[in-house]
This record gives sequence, C-alpha cells and structure tokens, in this order.
Amino acid sequence: MKTAKLIEYLRVDRMPTVWCPGCGNGIIMKATVDAIDRLGLSKSEVAIVSGIGCSSRVTGYLDFNTLHTLHGRAIAFATGVKLARPDMTVIVMGGDGDMLAIGGNHFIHACRRNLNLTVIVFNNSIYGMTGGQYSPTTPTYAMASTAPYGSIEKPFDVVDLATSSGATYVARSTVYHYELTVKFIKAAIEHKGMAVVDVITNCHTYFGRYNKIPDPSEMLEQFKEKSIPLSKAEELSENELKDRIIIGEFRKVESPDFQELYKQLQEKARGEDGYKA
Ligand code: SF4
Repeated sequence: MKTAKLIEYLRVDRMPTVWCPGCGNGIIMKATVDAIDRLGLSKSEVAIVSGIGCSSRVTGYLDFNTLHTLHGRAIAFATGVKLARPDMTVIVMGGDGDMLAIGGNHFIHACRRNLNLTVIVFNNSIYGMTGGQYSPTTPTYAMASTAPYGSIEKPFDVVDLATSSGATYVARSTVYHYELTVKFIKAAIEHKGMAVVDVITNCHTYFGRYNKIPDPSEMLEQFKEKSIPLSKAEELSENELKDRIIIGEFRKVESPDFQELYKQLQEKARGEDGYKA
C-alpha cells in the first residue's frame, strides 16, 4: 500500500505514535488497513474496538469508528456494537495480556458463541505498557520483570485456545510475514463467525531486552527462522516442533453465527406469542 493511501486511513494529527521505534504494532496496524482496503470497505462500515495496552492504542491512530475501552473488555464492547449494528464489520485489536488474562473470559465465550467478530491478537508474550510483566503467552523459562529467574508457568497457545473454545476461523502469522498477515486478516473479516488471528510480534523493549534479543530486526529474523507452515509441521514430531512457530490457517468452518441464531430465536418467540413485529 502506498503511503498516500495509508494516510487516508490514519489520524495523522495524533502521530507520532507512543510505540517504541521498531515495535511490531505498526506492522499489524498497517496489515489491518491493507486488508480493509483490499476488501473495499468504507471507513463508515468498520468499527474497531480495543482495550488497554501498547497495542490497544491502535484505535487512537486508525480513522474508523473506534472505541478505546477498558482493560480486557474490548470483546464485551464489540459484542454490543455487533448486536446493535450487525451490518458493520467489527474488529477487535489487542495484546496477549489484555485479551487472554483479564479479558480471557470474554475471549473464550465470544469463541463459544461464534460471534461474528474479527479478533486480532498482538502476541508479544509480555505486558509492554506496564513494564514487562510476564503474560499468559510468555514461554516457560522466559524472563520478565516479574519473572527474574524465568517464568515457571506454561503459556496459552492462542490457536489451541480459540479452536477448543469454538472459534470458526483461526489463523496464525508473524510480523515478519506481512503478506500472510494481511491475507489472514482479510479472510477473518470475510468469515461469518468468530475469527481469531494470532500475530506473533516483537516487544524488543521488554521481552527482547529481558531475553537478550533487544534488537527488533533480530527478533523478526528469529520469527522467520522459527516459523514453519502448518502443512510441514504436520509431518514433524512434537519434539521437532519445540520452539517452532506454526503459521497458517488452523480452522475454517461454516457454522451459524450468534446473530443468525438470535434472529431465529426472536422469530420463534414472536411466533409463539402470536406477535408479529
Ligand atoms: Fe512495542 Fe514493547 Fe514498546 Fe510497547 S513497550 S511499544 S509493545 S516495543
């Protein structure tokens, strides 16, 4: 996407961003804009909702209908927007801490309900804005400000969590794989039902610094080296896949979404009462 075109979708008066130079947040923001542009959606047709955290600041910079809400509650607000305006494309953007810790219940229940939302997880394996605390996706033994000897907890796998909770479109990419990220976000927006895109990204300032990879380009190189397409991963053993990032589309199924079932329920209730709106 050309810069002039990109600028049309941004609130340039709010720039520069608060993000550290080299942060992957900007790559995911641009990939989202690119996906929306390729789908030909107008700005008025799209609502973007975020919670709290570095990545959640994205709603300040994107010139769509935006809601910058409470910590962990972006999906709850997005649910309301989608039910009130089912005609709109509703996208939720936020970090692994916001989305999977305090917002964890909203995440799994939105998946279970198959709400017609696109949820983009900026997965940098740490809390950035609040100072580098370990998050639900911090790998075991990785360092963080609250884990100076390494985290002893097992991380969530966003793809597994979304799939087992009922999301009907689930994909993973990394910020190194820009075109793939655009492709998956575009497919997620087009999908009818709960769509989750897990984008592995870099917080070099905290995760990188604590884990001896403070250079953002080096982190992106590691994403490149560690990534393996799903089709190839299926041929490898669990041991061979240790520390690898499996990228691809993990789930894509058609199933009635929440709005469709809710509409049917309304019609049923009206019919039983003999009431027709
Ligand atoms: Fe990005 Fe980390 Fe800086 Fe936040 S603290 S802007 S996540 S690099």
